[in-house]
Amino acid sequence: MKENYIARKLKINGIVQGVGFRPFVYNLANKFQLKGEVANNSSGVSIHVEGTRENIEFFCSDLFKTHPPLAHLVEISFNEKPVEYFKDFSIVKSISENSRSTLISPDVSVCDDCLGELFNPDNRRYKYPFINCTNCGPRYTIINEIPYDRPNTSMKEFIMCSKCRAEYDNPSSRRFHAQPNACVDCGPHVSLKDNTGRNINSSNPIEKTANLLKQGYIIAIKGLGGFHLAADSVNNEAVTRLRKRKNREEKPFAIMSYGIKQIREYAFIEPEEEKLLNSIQRPIVLLLKKEPNPLSREVSPNNRYFGAMLPYTPLHYLILAYEFTALIMTSGNISNEPIAIDNQDAFERLGSIADYFLINNRDIYLRSDDSIVRRSAGKTRFIRRSRGYVPVPVFLKHSVPQILGCGAELKNTVCLTRGKTAFISQHIGDLENLATDSFFRLTVNHLKRILDIDPEIIACDLHPDYLSTRYAEEQLNVELIKVQHHHAHIASCMAENGIDGTVLGLSFDGTGYGTDGSIWGGEVLIVDPVRFKRIANISYIPMPGSASAIKEPWRMGISYLYHAFGEDFWNLDLPLLKQIEEKNIKLIIEMISKNINSPLTSSLGRLFDGIAAIIGIRNHVSFEGQAAMELEMLAVSNSEEIYDYEWLSGNTYKVLTQPIVCGVVEDMARGIHPSRISGKFHMTLIKLFSELCEVIRKESGLNRIALSGGVFQNSILLTGLIKALEGKSFEVYMHSKIPTNDGGISLGQAVVAAATAKR
Ligand code: ZN
Ligand code: ZN
Ligand code: FE
Repeated sequence: MKENYIARKLKINGIVQGVGFRPFVYNLANKFQLKGEVANNSSGVSIHVEGTRENIEFFCSDLFKTHPPLAHLVEISFNEKPVEYFKDFSIVKSISENSRSTLISPDVSVCDDCLGELFNPDNRRYKYPFINCTNCGPRYTIINEIPYDRPNTSMKEFIMCSKCRAEYDNPSSRRFHAQPNACVDCGPHVSLKDNTGRNINSSNPIEKTANLLKQGYIIAIKGLGGFHLAADSVNNEAVTRLRKRKNREEKPFAIMSYGIKQIREYAFIEPEEEKLLNSIQRPIVLLLKKEPNPLSREVSPNNRYFGAMLPYTPLHYLILAYEFTALIMTSGNISNEPIAIDNQDAFERLGSIADYFLINNRDIYLRSDDSIVRRSAGKTRFIRRSRGYVPVPVFLKHSVPQILGCGAELKNTVCLTRGKTAFISQHIGDLENLATDSFFRLTVNHLKRILDIDPEIIACDLHPDYLSTRYAEEQLNVELIKVQHHHAHIASCMAENGIDGTVLGLSFDGTGYGTDGSIWGGEVLIVDPVRFKRIANISYIPMPGSASAIKEPWRMGISYLYHAFGEDFWNLDLPLLKQIEEKNIKLIIEMISKNINSPLTSSLGRLFDGIAAIIGIRNHVSFEGQAAMELEMLAVSNSEEIYDYEWLSGNTYKVLTQPIVCGVVEDMARGIHPSRISGKFHMTLIKLFSELCEVIRKESGLNRIALSGGVFQNSILLTGLIKALEGKSFEVYMHSKIPTNDGGISLGQAVVAAATAKR
């Protein structure tokens, strides 16, 4: 009997803290009459079990097969140990160790059990807006230090009452060691204020908030990863006022509805989209609009989609239960600044936008915006990967050193690597102002601390003026590796797909600094992790006014027209030439011909802008990529019609824009509807690049193609190009774990730096 009584030590790494893993182990050990202990440590969870060999085997097999929903096991090691004759099985206090490589769970939506309690009048947490358990609630945004224990979170301010404490200590409770466990007697609470911070007295601040929303007021609501600005989306006057105050002319607002039923009132939902909406990550999902629909036109103007999500905190559920079709829940920020998380900061920055504030006294340590996804080409694509997904790492094929990838300028994220894991941060934003720059620095430091990564290599963009590049250059005692933007795009796609060797990369986006100092963005590259060769690109064209040409697509329109027709373009019958004052057009021509502030670009994003201006869709944009997005929204492409296209051969291939621009102008003269022109334009690009890839394959033998860059957010182009390339038997790789836009750049920088350093 004694020989059969053994002891075994297990070490488990992965997302195993704060997800009910220890109680699960505790219950499992009891099930098999095992003695010993389980503890969180800084690298995960360690378990010591003693019992009969058979029972330990059963225990181990169940442990791997049936772990809690939020747990994610990455690495498991075990050894036999001497028997210590434990009297029982217990959960012991966390021990901090030197190696701190545990993974932290993302913040996830309130679970069904908690939701049931929230709306049960007999439950002691009836309508308590901070209800949570080990299977749900805040994690990443409230952690300041590891291991994940209450004193290391913003819940440290709240001392549990005896009832909560009893649940916390009871291994059979769903709240056993649920770190944010709380109730109305001991936990955080909400309060309603006006925009000067004065208290609004009410016995039920949530009901009062709902009433104010119904009356058309704008309310700043503190959520999980930051403040939202809320307004009733069927109230056109309220939505218009929010747009004006937020200085956000046309960018679609995100909306939140109580359930799928409410969303169906204004949007179509495919089965896969319904799964996404209901997932514990609760992203904003882009859904095709129903027309007509009850929402204000100002919610998502000039767009075929609504960005909708389901509630993910108990507070959201309580507010939306007051029968709203949908509430606008847009990030609580001033355009282009990070969202507010701190109460005081919110009053200062949002006081001129919101009429009232529904705040609470639980601190958010790290802001995290809502994630945005879209179903495209049969898969879920990230437009923004943030709350709900971060900090789940991307798992790499090979082990890499500790590296920090600083990301690009727009839609910035950072990436920290260790071993075979790459942690991509939440969305930081456009690094164009001090507020975002300090959020960038704060995130880097916070992540280094909670992931325990001290980078020996820093990777950044080639662009000398990016704030992220400057940050990288300031860091001492680390190796600095600069990575070209489009190289990083393709490398990020290779990394998330776990592919090695050399591929053909199509990197299409708006802006990226090229090795020749020009602005690239329509690039066909031969890429391996260490280097790249530019094999083809869209031929250069001046961008009159540089950054102004991004904000004013009409400038690009003129540039393409001048390039295609010379001075003859003046004779064309185009709305663009009537909408813009002649003297302004003359100024642009002068800038181009005298080469004043007119850098050259090969960007496909700019070609989209230029075409949008030429066909009269848009001359000015209020956010980057707006014209291109509207061109996509407009496109009708059920035909095989295309424009003529041409490329020049030589050292590299130069794709000419002239034939396409001439074709578009001709169609305009014939009175062809812009939606058909847009469809033809998309089809032309698909045909052109798939054919060009075939030519390059003949010379290079490369059959694998990676697609990356912001232009691939365009579903027509992505879907069409995949189909065309697969039709030519190419192996096509694209993004589904990280964004195809610049939000994925930091991963690409890190893997290129890893490969470069290894060499
Ligand atoms: Zn729960
Ligand atoms: Zn309590
Ligand atoms: Fe890019």
